[in-house]
Amino acid sequence: MRTVKAYAAPSATEPLVPTTIQRRDVGPKDVLIKIAYAGICHSDIHTVRGEWGPQQYPLTVGHEIVGVVEEAGSDVTRHRVGDRVGVGCMVNSCRECANCRAGEEQYCLNGNVGTYAGVDRDGSITQGGYSTHIVVVEDFVLSVPESIPYEAAAPLLCAGITTYSPLAHWNAGPGKKVAVVGLGGLGHMAVKIASAMGAEVTVLSQSLSKQDDGKRFGAEHYYATSDPDTFKQLESTFDLIINTVSAKIDLDAYLSLLRLDGTMVNVGAPADALPLHVFTLFNQRRSFAGSGIGGIRETQEMLDFCAQHGIAPEIEVVSADAINEAYERVLSSDVRYRFVIDTATLG
Ligand code: NAP
Ligand code: ZN
Ligand code: ZN
Repeated sequence: MRTVKAYAAPSATEPLVPTTIQRRDVGPKDVLIKIAYAGICHSDIHTVRGEWGPQQYPLTVGHEIVGVVEEAGSDVTRHRVGDRVGVGCMVNSCRECANCRAGEEQYCLNGNVGTYAGVDRDGSITQGGYSTHIVVVEDFVLSVPESIPYEAAAPLLCAGITTYSPLAHWNAGPGKKVAVVGLGGLGHMAVKIASAMGAEVTVLSQSLSKQDDGKRFGAEHYYATSDPDTFKQLESTFDLIINTVSAKIDLDAYLSLLRLDGTMVNVGAPADALPLHVFTLFNQRRSFAGSGIGGIRETQEMLDFCAQHGIAPEIEVVSADAINEAYERVLSSDVRYRFVIDTATLG
């Protein structure tokens, strides 16, 4: 075991504080990663505050991790010391179930092991990326293309794959009208990726305050959802709607914006149930779906796609002592568009 520096939540109601955590010894198939940057995902906040259920504290979160391989186990073949690598939302799965064999480890029928707040094989609770080092089995470690700016690569490991996966699955591309609800961490990546895929992208944001940014990221249209006219004007318009909102929204209002056979995919994960009227679905044979992160193979595909298309998240690098303030800014939709922690400042 080695002791490494980290930031952790002592409880659901207290600010995160500097601490140390234990990392396991490097096994034959493990790599030890020296973490350089860790993104702040809204899921980190939902989790540490207990919104998705009770947690064991202290808890270190963070599942948008980039760094360099510092040590590789004797049987490691995919990564070498010095490689630029990434870790996303999961660090293991059973590898044997039908979904794992199909490369959809995020939907492992025996439950994937989350990068934090998951139960590891030894029964311990996994601790995430707000730390200086992490030990991960090599199959769950991604190669990060050198052309993606180092610090900006981190958010791709969650915000990037979580939006890429449904956009690819529901065939966003030329001739498709795609709406993105919420221009935060996930939303701004959805806009960049969908527009690189060739879709006609519309942003549906609470106000028009980020309109210039949204258009710079590739959106052709931008509407304020606070204006009731938006919902009248856009009725039965979109082939695909990606909802990234972290809070409860009026699903029927958004579903009514789908055209014939259109699908709305929820990636936002509010704690509260989201009610809807089935009649909204009967009209235009609409579908309502969900999507969770993405498999390892698809995550690598997304990283390569972003490198090829010159796509990177818009980030604000923060030092560790600014994490709690960053959380408050995320909660007030004042993020432009992802906070990334420089782990050299962890203490
Ligand atoms: P974020 O940066 O906070 O973005 C969420 C955006 O939603 C905000 O920027 C805001 O956009 C909009 N919004 C916030 N509160 C709202 C409200 N009350 N009504 C309407 N719009 C509101 O969060 P994120 O990191 O992108 O994560 C978004 C959600 O996805 C979270 O719930 C997170 O847990 C979840 N998530 C799910 C997965 C998955 O696998 N499915 C993976 C990662 C994250 P505007 O200012 O433009 O309105
Ligand atoms: Zn996340
Ligand atoms: Zn499995």
